[in-house]
Amino acid sequence: MSESVGPERADLVIAHARCLATVDDARRELSDGWLAITDGLVSGVGTGEPPDADETIDAANCLVTPGLVNTHHHLYQNLTRAFPPMTDKPLFGWLQSLYPLWRSIDTESVYVSAWVGLAELALSGCTTSTDHLYLHPRGAGDLLGAEIEAARDLGIRFHPTRGSMSLSEKDGGLPPDDVVADDDEILAACEEAVERHHDRTFGAMTRVALAPCSPFSVTEDLMVRTGELAERLDVRLHTHFAENAEDDEFSLATFGCRPMEYLERTGWCTDRTWVAHCVMPNADEIARLGAAGVGAAHCPSSNLILASGISPVVDLRAAGVKVGLGVDGSSSADSASLWLEARQAMLLAKLRNGAGAGTARMALEIATVGGAGCLGREGEIGTLQVGAVADVAVWSLTGPTFAGAIADPIEAWLRCGPTGVRDTIVHGRPIVRDGMLVSDRLEEMLNAHDVQARRIQQLDV
Ligand SMILES: [Zn+2]
Repeated sequence: MSESVGPERADLVIAHARCLATVDDARRELSDGWLAITDGLVSGVGTGEPPDADETIDAANCLVTPGLVNTHHHLYQNLTRAFPPMTDKPLFGWLQSLYPLWRSIDTESVYVSAWVGLAELALSGCTTSTDHLYLHPRGAGDLLGAEIEAARDLGIRFHPTRGSMSLSEKDGGLPPDDVVADDDEILAACEEAVERHHDRTFGAMTRVALAPCSPFSVTEDLMVRTGELAERLDVRLHTHFAENAEDDEFSLATFGCRPMEYLERTGWCTDRTWVAHCVMPNADEIARLGAAGVGAAHCPSSNLILASGISPVVDLRAAGVKVGLGVDGSSSADSASLWLEARQAMLLAKLRNGAGAGTARMALEIATVGGAGCLGREGEIGTLQVGAVADVAVWSLTGPTFAGAIADPIEAWLRCGPTGVRDTIVHGRPIVRDGMLVSDRLEEMLNAHDVQARRIQQLDV
């Protein structure tokens, strides 16, 4: 039986891939593979001679994968990247020393930081990104709208989350008083954001989720009511969860239980939820997360930089948790390369579970179908099968870093390198070609970013 299924003519064809890693249900890996794209969707997959097309991209000596999915980020944090005084502090101290700088974000700085951050992600093969925007200083304007505009301009698929903080220092939380809002205000803003921006159609470029920042920055009542609102509006839920030992201690001291029990008692332990980090769950909690169908955004570099720990992703996956990959905010993980995070995920899984447990194929699954599961879009994104959206990454396996890597192109992809993507295609439209952004606005945006970063960091030079 032929493995080729496709149209007579397509809009775009990616041809003669050394390996086409479909990450479909059968996990097919096709040598001399081709992918046909029509109207933004995958219209054919096969080997050998491809169908005719308006445009053909030659992928000889390349690995072709689904576009990578970023399931956790705080884009605005690239305005305080590698900020010196914070580098030796674990999570809570790090957050408290940065809030005074972050409170001066506005629509201009959010637009520019989102544009630059999403461009950086696209250059590492990312085609869908979420953003956890939980900082909404009073009078700052429509920050969610600003970052959505940036994603549209770049052409990347975007899942911003309407984040929130309601528990300030005076109420026992971490953030300063002027960046928190009251629960009714937050819920009204959440509902408005969904009405204005959430697109429910297949292939949607923008979807919104609701995302209280973390159990240590919102009230228990807000957690409960946000969960109920998400259910009523039928949107997804996101928050930070079980990130490190401080997080466990805070939960025990404040709520009288571990973060897992808190997740359950606030009604969040459902398949509508994906959580960020998930470093600290014990064996019993891992089983409960899996049984509930919760998703987890694994953020390996951030967990290393903040010395949080190593998330038990192999065990989480075995228990049925949908594990995706996240770069996390650019003030804690500084780099925002999904390729790098995929490699870190592979390496940490080897360290924690044995060399054979952490493979490049496992990392590729986490970065693609796992992320699709977190965002509730399985079968739609993160896979190259007929009918899925045509979000594709083309990786060149040439040059000194890949010399000699002949036997296994997928292992080569993550064990060699470092590398960036050659071509990134979102919904059938290239946004990166030959390692360069298609948009001609990069320099303009970098200059604007420099101005905003200096303002936020309170540097006069
Ligand atoms: Zn985070």
